[in-house]
Amino acid sequence: MAELTLDGVTKWFDDDGDRIVAVDDANVDIEDGEFLVLVGPSGCGKSTTLRMIAGLETVSRGDIRLGGRSITDEPPTTRDIAMVFQSYALYPHMTVRENMSFGLEESTDMPDDEIAAQVEQTAEMMGIADLLDRKPRELSGGQQQRVALGRAIVRDPEVFLMDEPLSNLDAKLRSQMRTELQRLQEDLGVTTVYVTHDQTEAMTMGDRIAILNDGELQQVGTPLECYHEPRNVFVAGFIGEPSMNFFDVDLEDGALVADDFEYALSDETLADVEGRDRLVLGIRPEDIELTGEGDERHDFRTLVDVVEPMGDENNVYLTFAGAERVDASGEEVETFVATVSGMRNVASGQEVVARIPEEAIHVFDRDTGEALHNRELERTEVAQANF
Ligand code: ATP
Repeated sequence: MAELTLDGVTKWFDDDGDRIVAVDDANVDIEDGEFLVLVGPSGCGKSTTLRMIAGLETVSRGDIRLGGRSITDEPPTTRDIAMVFQSYALYPHMTVRENMSFGLEESTDMPDDEIAAQVEQTAEMMGIADLLDRKPRELSGGQQQRVALGRAIVRDPEVFLMDEPLSNLDAKLRSQMRTELQRLQEDLGVTTVYVTHDQTEAMTMGDRIAILNDGELQQVGTPLECYHEPRNVFVAGFIGEPSMNFFDVDLEDGALVADDFEYALSDETLADVEGRDRLVLGIRPEDIELTGEGDERHDFRTLVDVVEPMGDENNVYLTFAGAERVDASGEEVETFVATVSGMRNVASGQEVVARIPEEAIHVFDRDTGEALHNRELERTEVAQANF
């Protein structure tokens, strides 16, 4: 077990004389036993980061340390790191047992009977003991996934690297494996870096998440920090489903002014945005309340455009009442979304009052994207049962 440090890690590729920077000055300390999820959109540099840690890609600048020791120039085989890929990468001509033993036979001088025992024990733990003599083609996707994980676990490495390991599974199995993997990682206590583009996986699995965009780390924090206290507009929009609503606004006489509405700010919020006037107002869908009465200062008359029933919730797409339905160029005006209980009856065409509570708003600098003001946080405890 060991802590893993990325210190100014940068990777560029040469493309016919042009330099493509895939990862730019990444700094993160991953604690011993921590589960860090690296998340971001396609092409943001996640796989390249992971491949540098594994030693499958050289580092252009910076240093990678494992337990304080620089591994930047070490070959993959001596790094004591096991990687699990999306494609599973099992050897098709080998049985499950052979697939799982292979790494230990190649990279250690462990006696055969010890390897066999370790494979059996890991297979037991992964629930694949009865599949040991099958070939990969005789297994379902979920079983192949377990074998790929088992093959990494049996090596007892200092670090696990996982590159979208669940993305070939169907939704139900994926959510089951998510929980299983988390539990397994916790039990084994092995430092893990897990790459995904799926923000649900990031939110639910990681001790912390590192959000990457365009090769740059945007924020490293616990899932709840990133959700409630995003450092910038990118993080705010990336984490959360449906995404946070954003409105371009200008600060005029103590209020945020957009084409369709004005939002008065309290002195406390004003103090946070002082000195900037080109802003973005952000509000999460679940924080917008739909009410009948519109007598509070942050209540707005809106028209329901579309209702998307999700079962437990309704996603209600709204436009400000009185707003033009199409803009000057003939494009439909964008809607914003409120999430309300699935038990509430809301219909397209209905007029409702949308309340945007000030304690839940975020305000960003429109030019830099930086968060100037984040929502207030007040978490309450669930009472301990007292039987
Ligand atoms: P995805 O989720 O689609 O797998 P990713 O976040 O893992 O994407 P990377 O594969 O790390 O992204 O790629 C980051 C950037 O580096 C991309 O712009 C990609 O085109 C570029 N890149 C990756 N490998 C190479 C290479 N061998 N040569 C040139 N450019 C590369």
